[in-house]
Amino acid sequence: MKCPFCGYPNTKVQDSRSIENGLVIRRRRICPNCGAKFTTYERFEGGTLMVVKKDGRREKFSRDKVMGGIIKACEKRPISMEKIEEITNALEARAKKRGKEISTAEIGEMIMNELRKLDQVAYVRFASVYRDFRDIDQFIEEIGKLKGERKNG
Ligand SMILES: [Zn+2]
Repeated sequence: MKCPFCGYPNTKVQDSRSIENGLVIRRRRICPNCGAKFTTYERFEGGTLMVVKKDGRREKFSRDKVMGGIIKACEKRPISMEKIEEITNALEARAKKRGKEISTAEIGEMIMNELRKLDQVAYVRFASVYRDFRDIDQFIEEIGKLKGERKNG
């Protein structure tokens, strides 16, 4: 694989390991020319997964979009990029397992479930954008639910 930083054609694999129960191979690479280190992932591509939007339009599933949403929600939270990638990978695999189509609502719910387990601030941030809280009462209600969960759990 070419170095994405300097374009040198022969980067070297330093470490290769399977993650996510063997469904994904992660390779750490180094460029002998400029010394850059980077990571690549090899995963099942599957067929094209289409996302059905609220208005009925369809678009190709975008891993970057899902990850972008998660990154935004996790801004300034103590969550590593590695963790975010892990969640994105898991979500993508789960979404593709369901078939050829998935709704934006289903994806949103899946992301919320993951964030809820990970970080409450990130969860509330994502939920407030995704669910489009109409007023402060709805927001407080959601926070209340989280507090209840923590007490019970
Ligand atoms: Zn390079």
